[in-house]
Amino acid sequence: MAEKTGRTDYANPGDIELVGKAEKENIPLGTDRLKKMMPQCGFGELGTCCVQCYLGPCRIDPFEGGPKLGVCGANADVIVARNFLRAAVGGASSHAGHARELAILLLEVAEGKAPGYLIRDEAKLLSVAARLGVAVDGRPPEAIAADLARKAIEDFGRQDGKPMNWIRGRTSKKEYEKWEKLGLIVSNPHNEIEVAMHRTSMGNDADPLNLWIATLRMGMVDNFAGLMLATDISDIIFGTPSPKVVSANYAVIKDGSVNIACHGHNPIMASKLVEWADKLESEAKAAGADRINVAGVCCIGNELAVRFGASYAGHLAQAELFLTTGAIDAMVVDMQCIWPSLATIAKCYKTRFITTAPFVRNPDAIHVDFRTETADAQAQEILRHGIAAFHDRKAGGIETCIPKASSKMLTGISVEALVSVLSAVDADDPLAPVVNAVASGDILGAVGVVGCPNPKLRQSQMTERMVAELLRNDVLVVTTGCANHILAQAGFITSEATEKYAGKRLGGVLAALGKAAGLGAPLPPVLHMGSCVDNSRIYDLLAALAGRLDIEISQLPVAGSAPEFITEKAISIGSFFLAAGILVHMAPPPRVFGSPFAVELLTSKLPGINGGKALVETNPEKAAAGIIAHIRAKRQSLGLARV
Ligand code: SF4
Ligand code: SF4
Repeated sequence: MAEKTGRTDYANPGDIELVGKAEKENIPLGTDRLKKMMPQCGFGELGTCCVQCYLGPCRIDPFEGGPKLGVCGANADVIVARNFLRAAVGGASSHAGHARELAILLLEVAEGKAPGYLIRDEAKLLSVAARLGVAVDGRPPEAIAADLARKAIEDFGRQDGKPMNWIRGRTSKKEYEKWEKLGLIVSNPHNEIEVAMHRTSMGNDADPLNLWIATLRMGMVDNFAGLMLATDISDIIFGTPSPKVVSANYAVIKDGSVNIACHGHNPIMASKLVEWADKLESEAKAAGADRINVAGVCCIGNELAVRFGASYAGHLAQAELFLTTGAIDAMVVDMQCIWPSLATIAKCYKTRFITTAPFVRNPDAIHVDFRTETADAQAQEILRHGIAAFHDRKAGGIETCIPKASSKMLTGISVEALVSVLSAVDADDPLAPVVNAVASGDILGAVGVVGCPNPKLRQSQMTERMVAELLRNDVLVVTTGCANHILAQAGFITSEATEKYAGKRLGGVLAALGKAAGLGAPLPPVLHMGSCVDNSRIYDLLAALAGRLDIEISQLPVAGSAPEFITEKAISIGSFFLAAGILVHMAPPPRVFGSPFAVELLTSKLPGINGGKALVETNPEKAAAGIIAHIRAKRQSLGLARV
């Protein structure tokens, strides 16, 4: 067991308990299948396998004597660049799809066609609308929202080649001009995706540089048509996150409750489950439960926690384990990161596995074709499945095993919330306390820690150890995505964590800010900004700081890190931060090492062009050291103290 789960400082005792239960009950988990997959294919890991046509698969051999060209003559640099771009397309498509659904919902809300939804945050509506050039004065919110939604939808349909509305409206002049010079301003995300798929199919683009520029452009699609558009509209419809303390880890599941685990990404469906859980409490009670308990797994856990304070269950790699508790009555999923294995495991515990998106189906699932116009009725239908399953669980005497592992975290740190906390210190210049602390070196720098929990790196507690090392060196950490579940469960997102993990100088700043904001305790050293699409909040924060200092984002002493990434979405998010001129740390190694061109571009040439740089390191302490060295170099270039 210890060998299987890795009993180290940060190991979650709940994981250990449930892995043991799964083993006893003969339930295969992802970690078991990963073991069987080893050793994984070296060509695939290097990125030099091509399956783009039926002359292949072709594989470029890094060693002497093997083939150096595919049948069509493509070399390793071309094959790696094409594969990487296609991965970025996968990620950007996911995020753009998420955002487009929200844009359509905003229009439906404005036109009264989605009666279950509201404009909850008029201040955000007005601020985004003003930035996008939508007239706001004296107009009703619905009219403003309709025009704003049309601006978003126009971005997905324009054929005139003009820049996306969301790029023009949501970037500073400095950043816009920089991207324009580099040829990175995109017009229509769908066209960009089409061209990327076209150029990477057999017999098209054979220029590795041209292909890598297309990858940076795909990063722009990801951020502006995906992350930022989704965050802006979600805030308008569901409310901009504000600080709140929530419960995390396995103990959020309660044996006596109807437990609904929401898994996926988009708050459109899950928000309705949270709302109706309270309204259907009497039905739950009639079935013998105390209430309906909606808990979020994966990124929807982030969405529900930051916006509604819902229980924060666990990350992607724990989704199977939540089912093995036997206490989940329904697992309701929308899109992305939904492993096919979940429906199979759910069957073993009589958990109702419910899919809700037309393109995310599973033959073992109950499918509810969720539509915004019938959202309220369908949310009730889904929850009644959970109530019925609870009744069956109790009637059938199904044994449950809910680990006691439990933690708390302070969440909801949107840029707006952070500015409001900082205003307590300096109402005229809210960013001044942070800027001053960075200038003096009390805050050495900041790192956005994002992405997934990868079982390949979970055993070494890559995320926890790297973050502990960053904090010890006075580097502030902001988080999004499943990485935040890892850190919440390990106790990094509390005031007590400041005392335990932050360096003396960083701890002093956080204590002073916490006191000034009236929290009665230090701010946590890790600030939770939301889900993966909320990486746009990290960009917004960096843009605000750079604007305040009148420098480019690429000059700031900051970095991004996806220390255990899994998905193509991490590739497209990372591509955006490279386009923004930021150091991006990635582990496990991205599939680029078969291409000398790619390695040189991402580590030596790009830093000289726009400041972007890739760092690949799977050892947590070495990764932190590499990031800190970069932060110190940036400090030196700015002439700051403490380099
Ligand atoms: S298709 Fe490519 S990555 Fe997959 S096994 Fe074959 S060589 Fe490896
Ligand atoms: S596109 Fe070229 S390298 Fe790729 S499979 Fe076809 S022949 Fe092989």
